[in-house]
Amino acid sequence: MKLEILANRLREIGIKDLKKDEPLALHSSWKIGGPADVLVNVSDIPSLQKLIVFAKEWDIPFIVIGRGSNILFPDEGLRGIVAKFGKAFASVRTSGTSIVADAGMWTPRLAKIAASKGISGLEHVSGIPGTLGGLIYMNGGSLRRSIGDNVKSVLALDEDTNLIEISRDKCEFSYRSSLFQRKNYVILKACIEGIGDDPKNIKRRILDILAERKCKFPLKLPSCGSVFTNNAEIYEVCGPPGKIIEEAGLKGLRVGGLMVSTMHANFIVNVGGGRSKDALELISMIRETVHKRTGFWLECEVRYVTPKGKIAPLHEFL
Ligand SMILES: Cc1cc2nc3c(=O)[nH]c(=O)nc-3n(C[C@H](O)[C@H](O)[C@H](O)COP(=O)(O)OP(=O)(O)OC[C@H]3O[C@@H](n4cnc5c(N)ncnc54)[C@H](O)[C@@H]3O)c2cc1C
Repeated sequence: MKLEILANRLREIGIKDLKKDEPLALHSSWKIGGPADVLVNVSDIPSLQKLIVFAKEWDIPFIVIGRGSNILFPDEGLRGIVAKFGKAFASVRTSGTSIVADAGMWTPRLAKIAASKGISGLEHVSGIPGTLGGLIYMNGGSLRRSIGDNVKSVLALDEDTNLIEISRDKCEFSYRSSLFQRKNYVILKACIEGIGDDPKNIKRRILDILAERKCKFPLKLPSCGSVFTNNAEIYEVCGPPGKIIEEAGLKGLRVGGLMVSTMHANFIVNVGGGRSKDALELISMIRETVHKRTGFWLECEVRYVTPKGKIAPLHEFL
């Protein structure tokens, strides 16, 4: 379907906040990615349901993103529709030590709100630059914790756009993994449970965590955070991915505009004009080198999106 016709049809079914031919680099923390045919900012559930039904009926690739802080978009862009969760779908409500927040909520802001209400437990996510939806999908976290530890239930849309509530025990949370990576559900909201504490203590812990992250991570250059997951079996023998890559002498290795950070070897930073093909090549070189030295294949935390909208951990495309 031609772009103009696609945009008009979407407007006809009531989809308002849409952009045509939108550069995905603008929605990527790595600042990489060609244009998507259409990007829609999600603002309410009924129009999201209509959008999904429309994409299905016309067999148009459809993906959901938050802040794009754990995705590599292709240089060719995406021939389909991107539904973006952000500010327009980011309300939050607290009651006692419970929080109900929308998927578009900026994670560091959620941690800050929790702290100000005297709700402890989310300090570990205070420096993670993404949305709550992306965090739950990835089961992200830090300091050996994951958001799944805090989640009570998740409200989502299933494949047929039915609203479903999924309790924590059914979310299949494990290290950087969740049910949402295996099912085509769209996360809408989550109920999170913390424990009561003095806001001053919580804020102090957050400041300590942020200060430590500033010393450890290259936060001034575009990146996707940790590229590789910390696999328990590999860790036992060789340690964490950053150490393995550093010991392989790969700090500073560069392909095009992408470079293995000299500060933390599990980060690949965009030093200017980086492209997805550079990222794929550099990640492939790191994996090959590490495999030759250790016998292990590092697996990617970062996900890759194909121009046809298939999303999976990046190493699956190498
Ligand atoms: C500097 C830096 C530091 C980082 N530090 C950490 C860290 O300490 N710990 C950590 O765990 N991660 C870290 N990350 C990675 C990243 O920030 C997290 O994984 C984050 O939670 C992703 O959120 P997002 O909104 O950007 O998701 P996106 O990158 O937009 O999406 C990630 C995946 O989630 C899916 N998704 C997003 N929203 C939804 C939704 N509403 N419903 C269904 N699926 C959805 C997408 O399709 C995609 O597959 C870091 C990244 C950067 C750039």
